[in-house]
Amino acid sequence: MYLSKRVQAIKPSPTLAIDAKAKALQQQGVDVISFGTGEPDFDTPDNIKDAAVKAINAGFTKYCAVSGTPEIKNAIINKLKKDNELDYTQNEIIVSCGAKHSLYNLFMAIFNDGDEIIIPAPYWVSYPDMAILAGAVPVIINTGDKNNFKIDPAEIKKAITPKTKAIVINSPSNPTGVTYSCDELKEIVKVCAENKILIISDEIYEKLVYDNFKFCSTASVLPEAKANTIVINGVSKAFAMTGWRIGYTAGPKEIISAMTKIQSQSTSNPTSISIKAAVEALNGPQHDVEKMRIEFEKRRDYIVDRLNKMEGVSCIKPNGAFYVFPNVSKLIGKTFDGKVIKNDMDIADYLLEKAKIAVVPGSSFGAEGYIRLSYATSIKLIEEGMNRLQSAIGSL
Ligand SMILES: *Cc1c(COP(=O)(O)O)cnc(C)c1O
Repeated sequence: MYLSKRVQAIKPSPTLAIDAKAKALQQQGVDVISFGTGEPDFDTPDNIKDAAVKAINAGFTKYCAVSGTPEIKNAIINKLKKDNELDYTQNEIIVSCGAKHSLYNLFMAIFNDGDEIIIPAPYWVSYPDMAILAGAVPVIINTGDKNNFKIDPAEIKKAITPKTKAIVINSPSNPTGVTYSCDELKEIVKVCAENKILIISDEIYEKLVYDNFKFCSTASVLPEAKANTIVINGVSKAFAMTGWRIGYTAGPKEIISAMTKIQSQSTSNPTSISIKAAVEALNGPQHDVEKMRIEFEKRRDYIVDRLNKMEGVSCIKPNGAFYVFPNVSKLIGKTFDGKVIKNDMDIADYLLEKAKIAVVPGSSFGAEGYIRLSYATSIKLIEEGMNRLQSAIGSL
C-alpha cells in the first residue's frame, strides 16, 4: 500500500462528484437539470477576458512574484479599503490559485497535529477535510433552520478547549445562503478575541447579497477584530471567474509570510495571465457584478416561493450566495416502488433517477434532512426543475 494515512483520512469533494454525475448523464443524452453546481452560470465579463488576452500578447506569461504582483496586491488593498474600510499593506496579502488554495495554505500554515478548528454545520464541504489534511481536528457545531443556520456566541464558548486554534465563519454561506449581520459578527469576534482564537472569515460570496443586506467583513466589525481575523476572498463567485483560479488572503503578516513560504515550495505564483484578469476585475467597471446579482435575486425569490408551496418541504429565504437549503426531513420514511427513503442521500438519488434533477444531499454539508439547490442556472431551467421536483414529491 503506497498511500499515506493523510490522504486515506479524507474523501473527495461530494459536490464536485454530484456535478460530475449530472454532467455524465447529460453527455449520455439524459435531460438532467442540475441544481448541483457551485459556480455562476454567467460568462466572465468581456473587459476581464480582454485584459487576459492583452496580458498574453504583451508576453506577461512568465513566473512572477510568488505571493502575487504588487499590482494585484494594490488592487486588493484598494478593494478592501473601498468596500470594507480595512487597511492592509502589501506584506499582509497573498494571492493564491483560488480561495480554496488560500484556505489550504492557511490551514497548512497554522495547524499542528491535534489542534482544533470549530466549524459550524452546515459547512462548505472542504473545511473539515482540509483541516484533517493539515493534522487538525474539526469540532462541529450543529445548526438548523430553526435558528436560521446560525451559531450563537454561547455555543462557541462551549466548544472551546485548550486545543482550539481557529473557527471558520462563512457569510454569506455555502450551502445555506445565510448571512451574519455586523452586530452578530461583533459578538462572535468578542468571544474569539477573549479566547485568542483565530477567525477564518470566508467572504467569497460578499458581492452576492439581496434585500439590501449590508455586508460587513468580519475583520472590520470591531477594532480588535483585524488582528484576530484572516480574510479569505477571491474573484470566482463575484465575477464568474471560477476557472481562472484567483483567490486571496488578507491577515497578520506572520501568517501571510508563512503561507507564502508554503506556496513558494508548492505551486509558486498563481497564473500570471489570471492575475492580470483579476486586476481588471477588481479595478475595472463593476456593473456586470450588479447585473448578475440582480438576476440571482430574482431566481432566489422564485425558487424559495416554489419550494415552500411543496408538500413536505420548507425553505428559509436566505439573503446571500446562490444556494437554498430546504428542509426535506418530512419526506424521509416515505416510499416509492416499495423502497423506503431512509435519508437525504436517498432523496437525492430518487430525484436524480425519477425526476432527472441533480441536488446535493444535506449530509454532505454535515446537516441531515436537507438538500442543497444551487440557483446558478437560468430561470427557465429552474422553473422546469421545480415542476419536476413538485411532481416527484407528489408521487411519493
Ligand atoms: C466556491 C467557494 C470557495 C472557493 O472558491 P475558489 O474558486 O477556489 O476561489 C471557497 N469557499 C466557499 C464557501 C465557496 O463556495
